[in-house]
Amino acid sequence: MSTEQTAPARDTRQATLWAAMQRSGIDALWVSRPENIRYLSGFASGEDAKLLALPDAATLYTDARYTVQAGEQSRFPAHIARPPATLEHAASTVAGLRVGFEADHLTVSELENLRQHWQTGERPATLVSTQGLVEGLRLIKTDDEVAEIRAAQDIADLAFAAVRPSIVAGVREDWVAAQLEAFMRDHGATSAFDITVASGPRGAMPHGTASARVIGNDELVTVDFGAKVNGYHSDMTRTVATGNPNEELRRLYRAVLEAEETAVKAIRPGAKCSDLDRLARDVLTRHGLGEYFAHSLGHGVGLAVHEGPGLRAASSEVLEAGMVVTAEPGVYLPGVGGVRIEDLVLVTEDGYELLSRSGKEQL
Ligand code: ZN
Ligand code: ZN
Repeated sequence: MSTEQTAPARDTRQATLWAAMQRSGIDALWVSRPENIRYLSGFASGEDAKLLALPDAATLYTDARYTVQAGEQSRFPAHIARPPATLEHAASTVAGLRVGFEADHLTVSELENLRQHWQTGERPATLVSTQGLVEGLRLIKTDDEVAEIRAAQDIADLAFAAVRPSIVAGVREDWVAAQLEAFMRDHGATSAFDITVASGPRGAMPHGTASARVIGNDELVTVDFGAKVNGYHSDMTRTVATGNPNEELRRLYRAVLEAEETAVKAIRPGAKCSDLDRLARDVLTRHGLGEYFAHSLGHGVGLAVHEGPGLRAASSEVLEAGMVVTAEPGVYLPGVGGVRIEDLVLVTEDGYELLSRSGKEQL
């Protein structure tokens, strides 16, 4: 089966959502997560919007700052109002219906507002907690979505090639981060998240956001960054060396590289996410480093930097063609340093395609 056949096209998203809503036993869905609003409606400022999805219609709710933008971007009619007027407007539509809300995103006070406006009339709505409903639709990317992610990763690869020669002893971590960010902006993207530049002993911090530390000689430097294009993210980590790191650091690096390549080579439709995590973990355990691999192997990437599927030990998810995932084993030794290597990978019909193409050092 081709990716086109398995992936929901943009114009079938509403039908796919409706099928998922029926499985969840709801008549309507109050969408509050920004990425889900963007995915369903095309409206890019989901943090200032809500979406009421029904079987055959949907309404985007946002405020007057976005009247023009909503008209241009939203594939659904927009109702311009601020809360609580939005809830009052929706009340007649949801009367008597079972309305799902997104338990992982809606705040407690927002839920209380829904109760107050939708459950006090003659035909109260029934509010139903849902989890991962739209996120489930987002797991498998359409060709258009893959193209956006690929465009973001291409810019990140170009940025790394441009900045890598400047990652040397004597420059500050945050200067390196600024160079990467400036390059990505110059090329039509923004930074997908706070850039990690963790040098020397700071490499032991898996999320060591770039600091004012001056990079030293004979150190490893972990650089984790991504670009964002039209709402879609990329995510890649490279660990590079300044000068000649000692044999212990080189040993860490080679072990992580082996773990990363082992996991990537096993990516294919049907692979269990938990098995992929274990493959990488087993390599590091064989090198006596298992206990220092302090996080899961990877995650899906799309409208969110971190989304499903989760490539981790406790996951029951199975890879399918059209998913975009990372493999990013790392080891972190307090007082010594750390290494992480991360690739962005498209699951294809017969295996995988590396979207991140930046070279890896051989140490
Ligand atoms: Zn990353
Ligand atoms: Zn990642």
